[in-house]
Amino acid sequence: MRKTSILSLVGLLAVALCNHVNATACPAHTTETLRIRESTLCLLVDDPTPSRRQLVRTWVARSANIVADYYGRFPAPLVVLSLQSMEGGGVGGGRTTNDLGLVIQVRIGREATSDALSDDWVLVHEMVHLALPEVGRQHNWLAEGLATYVEGVARAQFGNREITDVWAEYRRSMPMGLPRNGEGGMDQTPTWGRTYWGGALYCLQADIAIREQTGNRIGLQTALRAILEQTGGYGFERDIDEVFHIGDAATGTRVLDDLYLQIKTVSQTPDLDLLWSRLGVPKDPKTQPFDDHAPLAAIRIAITAPRKS
Ligand SMILES: [Zn+2]
Repeated sequence: MRKTSILSLVGLLAVALCNHVNATACPAHTTETLRIRESTLCLLVDDPTPSRRQLVRTWVARSANIVADYYGRFPAPLVVLSLQSMEGGGVGGGRTTNDLGLVIQVRIGREATSDALSDDWVLVHEMVHLALPEVGRQHNWLAEGLATYVEGVARAQFGNREITDVWAEYRRSMPMGLPRNGEGGMDQTPTWGRTYWGGALYCLQADIAIREQTGNRIGLQTALRAILEQTGGYGFERDIDEVFHIGDAATGTRVLDDLYLQIKTVSQTPDLDLLWSRLGVPKDPKTQPFDDHAPLAAIRIAITAPRKS
C-alpha cells in the first residue's frame, strides 16, 4: 500500500521535515542507521531494547537486500523506516509515503519471532514501491500490482520464499484480479481486487510476453531496472506512458505499452486456466508437481529461479 494524504502529511511532519531539510541525512531521532549497498536506511524503532533491535535490524537488512538484488541496487538513496510496536506476533499493514521525503511505516507485533519476520512479505512489498515513480492515482493498479508481483518473485530469487508457495499464491489469487460484470478497464476500476491482483496479473502477463519475445533471455525485471535507473523511482513523478516506453526500450519490445493499451479502458478476461496449463502450474503447487514439459515451463522456471550467487 502506498498513499500520499493530508493526514499522513500531518502525522509524519516531524519525521519528514528533517528528511526534507537534508535528504542525505537521517532524522535526529533515528535509533539506528543501516547501509545497504549505496543507500541509507534510517530506522525509527519505538522499542529500542537490544534484542528487539537485533531482530528488527536482521529483518530490515534481509528485506532490503531482497529488493536490492532484484533491482540491482536498493531503489532509494535514503528512506526513513518508522517501525512501531503493536500487539501480537505478526507484521501489520505497511504504507509508503512521499509527502516531504520517502517514509515507510510498518507495525510489528511485540511477540514477533525471527521466523515470523523471515516469512514477512509486507516490508518487501513496501520497499518495491520505492522503485516506481509516482504515476498518478488512476494508475495505482500498476504500483500495487508491481509490489504484489515482484514481492513473490524477488523473495523466491533470493531463496527467502518457496517457489511452490509463490506460484500457489499466484494461482489462488490472480482470479481476484479479473473484472466482474460491468467493470471497466484497469484505469477505471479502482477496486481492491483489480488494483492488487489485476495489477499483478498485468505484470505476470508482461513478464511472460517479454520472455517469449526475447527467447527467455530477459523479462520484466530488466524493464523495471531501467525504469528505476531512468526515473529515480518513487521520489519523482512520471507519466505512465513514459514509464512504459522506458521499460519497453530496455527489453527491445513493445510489451508494456501494447498490454496497457489492451486493458486501460476495456475489461479483459484472460483464460487463466489455459495460462496455468501453458506454464505447467498445477492446481495446488504445494502438493502437486509442476509440469516441466508444458509449453511455457522454461519461462515459469526462469521467472522464479534462485539467483546464482
Ligand atoms: Zn502497496
